[in-house]
Amino acid sequence: MLDRRKFYIEGEWVAPLAQNDFEVINPATEKPIAVISMGTAADIDRAVSAAKKAFASYSQTSVDERLALLEKLLDIYKRRYEEMAQTITLELGAPITMSREQQADVGVGHLQGFIDALKRLKLREALPNGDLLLREPIGVCGLITPWNWPINQIALKVVPALATGSTCVLKPSEFTPLNAMLYAEMVHEAGFPAGTFNLVNGDGPNVGSALSRHKAIDMMSFTGSTRAGIAVSKDAADTVKRVTLELGGKSPNIVFEDADLDDRITGSVVECFNNSGQSCDAPTRLLVQRSVYDKVVEIAGRVGLDAKVGNPAEEGSHIGPLVSEIQYGRVQALIEAGIAEGARVLVGGAGKPDGFETGYFVKPTIFADVNNDMRIARDEVFGPVLAIMAFDTEEEAIAIANDTNYGLAAYVQTTDATRAERVATRLRAGMVHINGAPHRYGSPFGGYKQSGNGREGGMFGLEDFLEVKTLHLPDVG
Ligand code: NDP
Repeated sequence: MLDRRKFYIEGEWVAPLAQNDFEVINPATEKPIAVISMGTAADIDRAVSAAKKAFASYSQTSVDERLALLEKLLDIYKRRYEEMAQTITLELGAPITMSREQQADVGVGHLQGFIDALKRLKLREALPNGDLLLREPIGVCGLITPWNWPINQIALKVVPALATGSTCVLKPSEFTPLNAMLYAEMVHEAGFPAGTFNLVNGDGPNVGSALSRHKAIDMMSFTGSTRAGIAVSKDAADTVKRVTLELGGKSPNIVFEDADLDDRITGSVVECFNNSGQSCDAPTRLLVQRSVYDKVVEIAGRVGLDAKVGNPAEEGSHIGPLVSEIQYGRVQALIEAGIAEGARVLVGGAGKPDGFETGYFVKPTIFADVNNDMRIARDEVFGPVLAIMAFDTEEEAIAIANDTNYGLAAYVQTTDATRAERVATRLRAGMVHINGAPHRYGSPFGGYKQSGNGREGGMFGLEDFLEVKTLHLPDVG
């Protein structure tokens, strides 16, 4: 078993101030793979002091100096890419093919997206009224990341902090801390000055909360559940720090009768099940025009039956386990709620798939005849569970799509480009995918309503980490 009990503070791996061991579990085998330490408020104090000290000089570095460091980090990441993919497979349970093609790939894509944006960023801008606008690093940033797309979230927070001249303390999820510690090694090797990046492991209520409440932290960037996002915001309120949040979703996927049904329904089911359904922007509510409802149910059922779970260590397009026993329990409870509320089980259902009694595997599940008041239509399931429901008119589809507390992503399937844009503009969501178009690196990622605030990635992601200063210059002449 790996011993990873140290934290990365001020450029060194240091022992925690108090011993508090925690075992990291492989979700496919339920066996421990590493031991880490759960930190305390005192460890956070130490890391924040280091970040504050480093900010004094790091905030004065030039864009060119920071670009050189980021380019170096990119080279190192590419060199250690396979290690990153293997680590994510081991601690999250993402199948290795998916880890290589998606989970690890985002670490390259986002870093490149930020490098491109930093080259275009205007730190000094003359306003038409004669004033001068300066963009400056916000300060010491507290970063809290979840387990579902671990290096994605780390890259979306650590990179813009360091790119803009801020310093940071990262608390990754204790369920998937190993990829974060590997990233710390890469940041170290790239030569970022001591104290610019710090990592403390621990849980949300203790370490996460200590970070959010800390008066020397200028900004919190959090990704996770809406519940925890609210807790971070409340903890941060007393010190009036900036808080950016990327929270849950219950994204609608509207299928009109003119869509290329075979292609679009296959793609939609595969996307919903991707990463075992553990994606905040997963298209989990399939809204189908009634005239093609039976056909869509038939295609979805066929694709759903083809979806197989499997050992994440093996290559292939199968689905891995959920990350933890807690998540397994949550997903089972919601599948049972769907059955109890009268939705029709088309594929899957409660319990473990045959032959997968060990590991947090669930049956890929599709419910038909769902209505938007059921819990499987309202709650974020975070498992491979799709809810299909019918609509008659465009107006009704938009109303059902927007009838949710969330507003992260939405999906529209139609061959009518005018309708696609008309509907997209009426959806209260931060990102709308038309006919399966993917999210592209460098574009803003984030949501409306209880899906959070702020945007991550590219130029918008950099701006969230910047303060704006106005210099009122005297009139010339
Ligand atoms: P959480 O939101 O609780 O966890 C995400 C991160 O936040 C973890 O590092 C966690 O630490 C931390 N955290 C939790 N509570 C606090 C707090 N009070 N202050 C500061 N940090 C905190 O997600 P869960 O793992 O409990 O998953 C529950 C549900 O959340 C999922 O089923 C899914 O619906 C949603 N979720 C959404 C994500 C997204 O991408 N938007 C990502 C992950 C989950 P700790 O693990 O110790 O609690």
